[in-house]
Amino acid sequence: MMKIFNSLSKQIELIEPYKPGIIGMYACGPTVYDYPHIGHGRKYVNDDVLRRALTRIAGLKVNHVQNITDVGHLVSDGDEGEDKLEKGARKYGKTVWEVASEYTDYFFQEMDILNVLRPTISCKATDHIVEQVKMIEELVERDFAYVTKEAVYFDVTKAENYGQLFGQDLGEKMVGVREEVETDNSKKNPADFALWFMRVGKYEDHVMHWQSPWGDGFPGWHIECSAMSRKYLGDQFEIHTGGEDHISIHHPNEIAQSEAATGKTPFVKYWFHSAFLMVDGKKMSKSLGNVYKVADIIERGYDPMALRYYYLSTHYRKQMNFTWEGMEAAANAYKKLREQVEELMKIAKEMGSQEGEHVDTFIKAVEEDLNIANALAALWEGVRSDVIPEEKLGLVSLADEVLGLRLIRTSEIDIPKEVIDLKNKREDAKANKDYQMADKLRDLIYSAGFEVRDTADGQVLKPR
Ligand SMILES: [Zn+2]
Repeated sequence: MMKIFNSLSKQIELIEPYKPGIIGMYACGPTVYDYPHIGHGRKYVNDDVLRRALTRIAGLKVNHVQNITDVGHLVSDGDEGEDKLEKGARKYGKTVWEVASEYTDYFFQEMDILNVLRPTISCKATDHIVEQVKMIEELVERDFAYVTKEAVYFDVTKAENYGQLFGQDLGEKMVGVREEVETDNSKKNPADFALWFMRVGKYEDHVMHWQSPWGDGFPGWHIECSAMSRKYLGDQFEIHTGGEDHISIHHPNEIAQSEAATGKTPFVKYWFHSAFLMVDGKKMSKSLGNVYKVADIIERGYDPMALRYYYLSTHYRKQMNFTWEGMEAAANAYKKLREQVEELMKIAKEMGSQEGEHVDTFIKAVEEDLNIANALAALWEGVRSDVIPEEKLGLVSLADEVLGLRLIRTSEIDIPKEVIDLKNKREDAKANKDYQMADKLRDLIYSAGFEVRDTADGQVLKPR
């Protein structure tokens, strides 16, 4: 019986799917205009552990839909500021379309490195303009939205319980929003948000634009998640995930749009939010020079699974404070755990069943709002206990399925000789600084079903 904290009810609740055996989970995905940083990594690892737990512990088939925000949307959630994709394009001297495509690839590459399972459906905002326009039309028809010269706005005063998720009433929210600058004078209420921007005024030169019943323009950010979750998961579904920064604007807006368009409540049963990651007790920022990418961690010689282990040591609802000392400690703990597992694999004749006292403790911890710190403690205890090695391996394999820490790794013995040969040739190519050849060999290894990764200990092969 899996339970999670629901940000909407602010209580720990039992997860009950609408239909037995299957569950819908929508995750707000990346805005693809720059490299993901380790804070993003934490959010997606938390989502991934939730999904794995739902699959392995709750025995559910998870329909995991995740969007890619590739329509240029604005730097602030409150419809203000500069367009992120245009900013990225200028920074890297590329077109917005190139930026979107390259950073989408990069995002998935980083997630693969962190062993985050790919979503069942990955959907791009630019591929779903029709669905977004249709939903906005419905909102205008149902009188939840209105059209001005500059935009189509959602009228928040018409939404029931608009403040439920962030725990404020609309009056307080209005006061907060009034502090912001650059608002359209024809907005009825300061908290109204844009569903569609016309290509006029400051957006006259907006690079990405489409035709709509209200003229040439582009969608606001929030509508894509409502339109795409509806298309792939229906009017109502179970779980929606996101970073804690979405509790105040993006997610209340999604709820308002979806419930207004479908007339059904609740849009989502359980809201799952990951807390932020800080670096040395401070918010990551360019000016402090503390914005680290996953690649930066690997460059310093750490196994990406050690970073995953580090993430999992803090509960998803608690702010995590990343420090290099903490990273080092996590890497040491992870290495020790891996050594124990390797020892076990040498002496165990086969994998034991996934049963026993430690397995039970492990499962109970995961079921209780993903108490992964306790689950890891149960794993350590089990591995160090005096039960037979086969049983310990059973526990480790269960932990691997749920936590995705790659504790049990395919040894090179299971890798075909041709692939090892290719790897050795690549080693030579790299030594001779023939990087073109090295890349070609990487592709050949890939087409043979394996991925090669460069680590501080040399090349590592793993099945794709
Ligand atoms: Zn979203």
